[in-house]
Amino acid sequence: MLLKLTILPGDGIGPEVTEQAVLVLQAIANGFGHQLQLQHKLIGGAALTAVNDPLPADTIQACLGSSAVLLGAVGSPAFDHNPGHLRPEAGLLRIRRELGAYANLRPAVLFPALEDTSPLRAEIVRGTDIMIVRELLGGTYFGQPRSIEGNPGSRVAVNTMRYSESEIERIARVAFELAMKRRRKVLSVDKANVLECSRLWREVVTRVGKDYPEVKLGHQYVDSAAMLLVQRPTDFDVLLTENMFGDILSDQAGGVVGSLGLLASASIGGPVGLYEPVHGSAPDIAGKGIANPLGAILSVAMMLRHSFQLEREAACIENAVSAVLSQGARTPDLAGKSHAAISTAEMGRRVVEATRASTVSSSAQA
Ligand code: NAD
Repeated sequence: MLLKLTILPGDGIGPEVTEQAVLVLQAIANGFGHQLQLQHKLIGGAALTAVNDPLPADTIQACLGSSAVLLGAVGSPAFDHNPGHLRPEAGLLRIRRELGAYANLRPAVLFPALEDTSPLRAEIVRGTDIMIVRELLGGTYFGQPRSIEGNPGSRVAVNTMRYSESEIERIARVAFELAMKRRRKVLSVDKANVLECSRLWREVVTRVGKDYPEVKLGHQYVDSAAMLLVQRPTDFDVLLTENMFGDILSDQAGGVVGSLGLLASASIGGPVGLYEPVHGSAPDIAGKGIANPLGAILSVAMMLRHSFQLEREAACIENAVSAVLSQGARTPDLAGKSHAAISTAEMGRRVVEATRASTVSSSAQA
């Protein structure tokens, strides 16, 4: 198969983790006989520095002409004082919108080898396997009007949370369809005791749920869901929620399973899927060669599964990641006191090696 991809390394640790993810992808392509066609484009702070636009037109064009997009991360303190449309994050929000990627899937799975890495006790976290389904194109992050107006000292800031029935319905269907392939549970997270958006959200999700009688649907307020996520993470199967709540809860889920650096995501629903680790550009560790590349590598697995239906290849990468973790490979975010830490490049090299081994055994079985 021809895998025609646009790579958007972005800022901070984005290029460091993306490089390793591409090496793993190359190992998969070699092992399974796929052809890779890659083009690298600018986004975020890197694009602002080059052309003063966080999402240049040729980046959009390249992405729309690809079968899938792999993104690292955007964001840099250098642009903290720029107006909103000239900040790196504006490029990220816009590419999601340009690609029509309304469904953001964020799995949070505890690898057995990392039981001791979670801040939670092993008996609480063991078996955690959550699929967070976050609505990605609506809510407060996109709602209009938005502004900061007035004179210093008396300024007023406005953001708008907005959701239409059709936006809620389409993301709810994604969650129920996923639940049908998993443990058949959807927990819809909202703030219906306070927000009108959430009341509509709950009503529409309940209505869509009637089309999936085999799926057990529950509703939870976001504050209480945040608490349950650390008290009983194994109770969760599919967690369905709106844009901002999903942003926050998925970072929390990263903490629960050991590190934000492990979390992958797929943003789908439009013509071209966008795949990126959940973490940001991590300016505090950028350039040091110590970032965890596993979130980016696992995002490649999601790409193979969701954009190309290459399930065997996706599983190969996931097995390789699990194997290197079982062998004790740990970047500093995972190392704790019991393991020696390895670099981003060394973690990538080990996953490539394990992927090659897994490719050989997978081809032998086929
Ligand atoms: P962050 O995710 O970049 O970092 C949070 C913490 O987690 C930091 O201590 C960081 O060192 C650590 N961390 C993150 N990824 C890691 C990895 N792969 N390996 C090891 N440690 C890792 O979030 P932040 O610090 O709140 O934001 C930094 C910048 O990133 C900001 O400009 C923000 O807007 C941007 N951001 C971008 C995205 C994205 O591109 N999707 C997401 C979140 C934040």
